[in-house]
Parts: sequence; structure tokens; C-alpha cells
Amino acid sequence: MPGFELFGAEEKKEVQDVLDNGVLMRYGFDGNRNGHYKALELERDLATRMQTEHAQVVSSGTAALTVALASAGVGSGDEVIMPTFTFVASFEAILSVGATPILCDIDDTLTLNPEAVKAGITSKTKAVMPVHMCGSMADLKALKKICTENDLILLEDACQAIGGSYDGKPLGSYGDLGCFSFDYVKTVTCGEGGGLITNSKVYAENAHKYQDHGHDHIGNNRGAETHPFLGYNYRLSELNAAVGIAQLRKLDQTLAIQEKNYTILREALSDIPQVSFRRVPETGVESYAFLNIFLPTEELAKKGHNSLTEHGVDACFYWYDNNWHYYKKWEHLLQPTSLNALSKAQLDGLQRNNKSFDASDAWMGRTISCLIKVGWSEEEVKERASKMIEALQSIL
Ligand SMILES: *Cc1c(COP(=O)(O)O)cnc(C)c1O
Repeated sequence: MPGFELFGAEEKKEVQDVLDNGVLMRYGFDGNRNGHYKALELERDLATRMQTEHAQVVSSGTAALTVALASAGVGSGDEVIMPTFTFVASFEAILSVGATPILCDIDDTLTLNPEAVKAGITSKTKAVMPVHMCGSMADLKALKKICTENDLILLEDACQAIGGSYDGKPLGSYGDLGCFSFDYVKTVTCGEGGGLITNSKVYAENAHKYQDHGHDHIGNNRGAETHPFLGYNYRLSELNAAVGIAQLRKLDQTLAIQEKNYTILREALSDIPQVSFRRVPETGVESYAFLNIFLPTEELAKKGHNSLTEHGVDACFYWYDNNWHYYKKWEHLLQPTSLNALSKAQLDGLQRNNKSFDASDAWMGRTISCLIKVGWSEEEVKERASKMIEALQSIL
């Protein structure tokens, strides 16, 4: 998955453009920048690649989620439904706009179960945020139907699945808004950065202003601009955007390598009868950033994960015990500890997350996720496949 595996002359050239003119800010300084507007260029490229009308780049994936929520008017008193398996950022972004994250169970897709979403809806629900974890997606058709019927916003967290598709559409473009992260370990990386995409002109214009202190960006005198509403600083710097441009151009190449490596490993593991694979919803195409397998029981998955490590197979994760990705270890979020006061509505709403999520536990307890790297040679992948078989067979 990490895009930095393909860093080369292209990234250097883009960064050099910025350093040569010395303008690190994406707006203004028109006379000094020698025609380089890297953040703007990255937005155009992102919208083209994702087949959406609009794209807004920002300083991180977390910022993209925050700006997306704010742009769609999600705030105080609202509830946003999200899955138990994600990255803490999804939860944080919802809290940071004043809304309340409501956890719902996942299923064998390792993403939101549409039935659990239905059961989680209340009169306060404003949005549903599926998280396309580890390279594959939620059942977007079912989720969209629920959102349409209940007048809810569908916001896709596609931070871990850039390049995958659903129903012929790039992930992130199916819902009302979609978000990506370009952080240091993502498929497209620029150090720290993120982007949101949408076909809504209103959301796009809101996002454009909100991520830059509410500036209207009309005319070319920044000091004279008006501010139609409150905003913050979630801008992406030109240096980061420059790296992002070169990286996004390599996305299809990265995806092709990931698919090839994934397929070799998957075919090898298919020979082990106790191994099964995560369900990919109909019409979905993975980004192949991870290979996710189920073992028959939690006990075997734990043993399997240890055995993989002992056999020298790195970059395989047992998320069930991980405190970034699975709700069980989020003690600071479940019994919220915050430097500044959360609202009463948030504190009350968060109580709903203090229950057991047996269906999520049942799937996550059995899951091992293996990162698919881009830099492996074919020989290395084949050697890895035989090591994985040996490691798993030794405990089954
Ligand atoms: C990485 C990630 C984010 C946040 O992205 P940052 O750029 O690190 O802030 C959000 N959601 C998911 C699922 C992620 O993997």
C-alpha cells in the first residue's frame, strides 16, 4: 500500500518547482510562483481520476472528513453512524464538528452492515459514514437506499481504499461526499494530506471556504476578501501537494502491482480449506491494498497471527487487539476524555456506544489483514506465499 515505495524523479521534479519559486502557500503570491499552483492542480487531477465534479485537497484525511461533515452541515446535536472497525480519525472528525459518532456493527465485508445501520437510525441521525477498510468497500447500494429513504448524507471514508470501485464508480464518488488520506503510509502519499470529492456544488463551495478560514476566494486580494461563514485552517501546502501530484499519477500503476501481488498470495492461501476471505459486495472491485482472511475461530486467528510473525511474515495485522482500529481499545473515546468540554448531547449520545458489538467481535476476532506492498519482487511474493502457508498450516 505505501505509495512511498515508488518515490522517484517525478516527485522530486514537482517539489523542485515549488522550491525554485519559493511560494509554499496555495493562494496568492501570483507574481512569484511562475505559474505553479500545485494544490489546485492536484484538485483537478483528483476530480478527473475520481470522475467527480469537484475535489478539495486539505492537510490530512482527518481534516478531509472534518471539512466534509462541516460542508454538509453536520454539527451540534446531529448523530453520524459509523462502523466499529475503522481508524480513530473517523470518530474524532465527527466529534470535532460537534456531532456524535454512533457505532454500528460490521459484517463479513468488514465494513458497515446495512441492517445494523437501519437499527441505529434515530430522529437525530444526519449522516452515515461507511469506512472502506483495508482496500475493500461497504455495500454502498444498500446504504444509499437507506440514506435516500431517511434523508441522510452518505459520506464515504475511502482513506484506505483509494483506487477501488463500486458499480463502475471510483470509491468515494458513489456517496454524497468521499474522503481520502495521503498520509505517510497511504497508497497515494504526500507526507500529510487529504482530499474530498463530491458532485455537489454547494458542498464543494462550502469546503473550499471552510478549509481556509471562511475566505470567499473572490478576486486576487486576499486581504480584501469577505468571509461568508466561520472556517478554520485545513489548507494543504504546495510542497505536500507537489508530492501528491506525482503520486496520484502513479496510482493505476500501484493498483496493478497490488492486484498482481494480492492474487499470488490469495491463490496460494485458497489451498488451505480453513482459510476464507472477506466478502466483497457485488460489483465491487478492491484496491488490493490488503489481503484479509478469516480463520475458523478467534483462538486460531491469534495463533495464526503469531505464527506468521514467527515465520518472518511481516506487515500482517490482528486488528482485534489494536487500539487504533477497533473500538474495543478506545477507552478515551468510549469513556470520553477530552481537553475541552464535549456537549451534553455528545456525552449522552456517546453512552449508546457502551454496549457489546458481538457481530463485530465475531468477525474481527477471526480476521488477519496482510498489507500488500508494491516494492516486492515476484520472487519475494512467491517466497512469502510459501512462508504463509507453512505458518498457517503449522497451527491448523
Ligand atoms: C488514514 C485514515 C484516516 C485519516 O487520515 P490522516 O491523513 O492520517 O489524518 C481516516 N480514516 C481511515 C480509514 C484511515 O485509514
